[in-house]
Formats: sequence, C-alpha cells, structure tokens
Amino acid sequence: MNNNYILDKELLEKRLKALADTPYSGEINFGAMCYAPRRIPIVKYECEICGKITERNQDDLDFLKKAKEIVTELKTAGYDVLLDEREFCKYCPGEKSRPPNLIFIIRFNQNENYHKARARSSYDFKLVQLFLEGGDHFSGDYDETVTLHDNIDQIYKMTGLGVDMIVQWLHERKKKGKAKNEHC
Ligand SMILES: [Zn+2]
Repeated sequence: MNNNYILDKELLEKRLKALADTPYSGEINFGAMCYAPRRIPIVKYECEICGKITERNQDDLDFLKKAKEIVTELKTAGYDVLLDEREFCKYCPGEKSRPPNLIFIIRFNQNENYHKARARSSYDFKLVQLFLEGGDHFSGDYDETVTLHDNIDQIYKMTGLGVDMIVQWLHERKKKGKAKNEHC
C-alpha cells in the first residue's frame, strides 16, 4: 500500500488550496473519442442488509466493486470512512436513484460529524483516493487524463474539506459576475 496518505485535516485543506491555485503542468491525454456500443450483462446483487436479490447491470456492480476496494484501502490507511450501498437493493427503504448511487461517508476528526456525499461513478472515489495519497492525476476509462486541479469542487463535494475556500470562491465569482454586469 501507498504510504503517502495524509491524515491531517489542516494539511489536506492546505493541499486542496494549493491544487486550486496552480494549473496542472503535466501532459494531458484526451483519450479515445469513440467506443463500440456493447451489451451490458445483467447480474444478481445480494443485499448485505436484508439478503434479498436485486438484478443490476454489470457496470453498476463494477462501480460498487471499485468503490469498495478504495474504501477498504482508505480504512486500512487509517481514515474514518464508511460506504452506504443501500440504493443497490430495491427492497431496503430509502431513495433509489437510477443508476444506483453510493453514499460515501467520511470524517477527519473524531469530534466532528460525518460528511456524507452521493457518488455516481468510480471517478468520485478515485479522485478522493488520489487526493488523500498526494497524487494529482489519473488515467480514466478511455485513457483520458483526469486531474485534481480540474476537480476541486468534486473533492470538496466528496470530503467536505476546504469549505471556507469554496465559500470564498463562490463569493469572488459572484463579485466578478457583478462587475461584468456593470459594464453592460
Ligand atoms: Zn436490502
């Protein structure tokens, strides 16, 4: 396992700010533009809570598998994280999105409330993992370069880190918007 994981909340927020302030300087691959349509197999999902079977497609199950792998690694690295997969079961109560979402739950301090985020794709989890382990980009499903620099808001959404920074950003954006309007 990678030993570069950063557990300290303050350091993580500093890192997020630094990423937001600097453009990505590496090479960018735009990836494959087209791909052949394919038939996605239907597979059985067994609920860990109620034990009932729901039919899901393979892509959704791959998403769940990747998310579980990452959450397990983050737990091993010392993070206080949980994964809520209840949307995958059509029998358990609660909201059911199509395709099913995962709820990622994390906190960086025992005295704080958990932050909950709705994740729609494995990229959400890859971005969080990469951010926590000190990386800055990964190669996506179509070989496209995905950078943290371009996904600051997504990292905020998933972790709740950098709330003050995000508020300030929105404020500045609003101010800029106003200035623009005054010229018209
Ligand atoms: Zn269930």
